Amino acid sequence: MKIHEYQAKAILSRYGVSVPAGVACFSVEEAVLAAEKLGGNKWVVKAQIYAGGRGKGGGVKLAKSIAEVRQFAEAMLFAPLVTHQTGPQGRIVHRLYIEQGVDIRHEYYLALVVDRTSQCVSLIASDAGGMDIEQVAAGSPEKIHKIQIDPLAGLNLRDAERIVREIDLPESCQSAAITMLDALYRAFDENDASLLEINPLIVTPDNRLIALDAKMNFDDNALFRHPEIVALRDLDEDDPLEAEASQHGLSYIPLDGDIACLVNGAGLAMATMDIIKLYGGNPANFLDVGGGATVEKVTEAFKLMLRNPGLQAILVNIFGGIMRCDVIAEGVVSAAREVKLTVPLIVRLEGTNVELGKKILADSGLTIISAGNMADAARKAVDAAARHCAEAATGGV
Ligand code: GDP
Ligand code: MG
Repeated sequence: MKIHEYQAKAILSRYGVSVPAGVACFSVEEAVLAAEKLGGNKWVVKAQIYAGGRGKGGGVKLAKSIAEVRQFAEAMLFAPLVTHQTGPQGRIVHRLYIEQGVDIRHEYYLALVVDRTSQCVSLIASDAGGMDIEQVAAGSPEKIHKIQIDPLAGLNLRDAERIVREIDLPESCQSAAITMLDALYRAFDENDASLLEINPLIVTPDNRLIALDAKMNFDDNALFRHPEIVALRDLDEDDPLEAEASQHGLSYIPLDGDIACLVNGAGLAMATMDIIKLYGGNPANFLDVGGGATVEKVTEAFKLMLRNPGLQAILVNIFGGIMRCDVIAEGVVSAAREVKLTVPLIVRLEGTNVELGKKILADSGLTIISAGNMADAARKAVDAAARHCAEAATGGV
């Protein structure tokens, strides 16, 4: 789960991390009032969307007057913001964060991320902050410094001292930086974050250390113990189809292909998308109905897949372990009746009660292309999609 920058800064500030004073706003008038209340002679108007790269896309603007705050807020609010992370259609900005502007002497990069290979939390730091860290990592990997934090022992003081020296922080900031690293690690650990990124962490001309940007993602599997974080979720930012799917207990991610897939298990769903690609097709979605799918869940899954106007075929690939093939077959039959299938349906079933499942499908009277194994299913789905597409182009003749 993601949250907005201003929410991440509020969490970090509770741990003692210095952040600029700021106010979240939902209208231009609120933005102007916020700037007046914050005072000072410069402000930063920041679009709050769940995507980075806002600065380069025009979503972070330094205002030198209240009139400029108004002007930038008017331009940003309710308009789409396109960054390298949003896709070409961009994201509509519904919230702004108005901050007191600060002077920057140098921009650094800091991040904490779960490193599955070492089974530790990695602390990544660089003195090349502010810009795309991916580019720094690719072009000058020597500028990226890392330490592994043992989850049981926590952040080791000597490691923290070393990394602060390695990124060449001014000496007068080093002890504040070590305190900040400790606070960041506690914020990460206690909130079950999966990513905490400060880019940039800045040193001001008077040697203050400030987190100028903040990004926090959380481990979905630990959200049950953080209702206060779940409450921060911004439904405007979630993909509406994904949000609807998650309400039905389905993991659904729309993609840009034309062969929809309904699969049980994330691994099998990934393999299904791979094999569709291998046979020259393009998956229209990732969809995992989970281990405990019911007839209702499968019906909802069909409805989601059929919302895609470019759809040419549906591939159902089920391995019945916990899930029984007859339940899936009943779900498929009832869903196909309820939603009126207009594209070819290819079904591959294997596992518990497979014979009963196949019989339910055969007795249903529906036109179903059955497949013996995954390769057969993918080949048939790719062929059927191509045929359906050609038929549609020639008006169904
Ligand atoms: P991002 O582009 O989405 O990562 O947004 P950031 O919050 O990182 O802002 C982008 C850039 O705007 C930063 O790297 C800074 O260079 C600049 N910036 C943000 N806040 C301030 C500020 O208070 N003062 C100045 N001078 N620049 C700022
Ligand atoms: Mg940034």
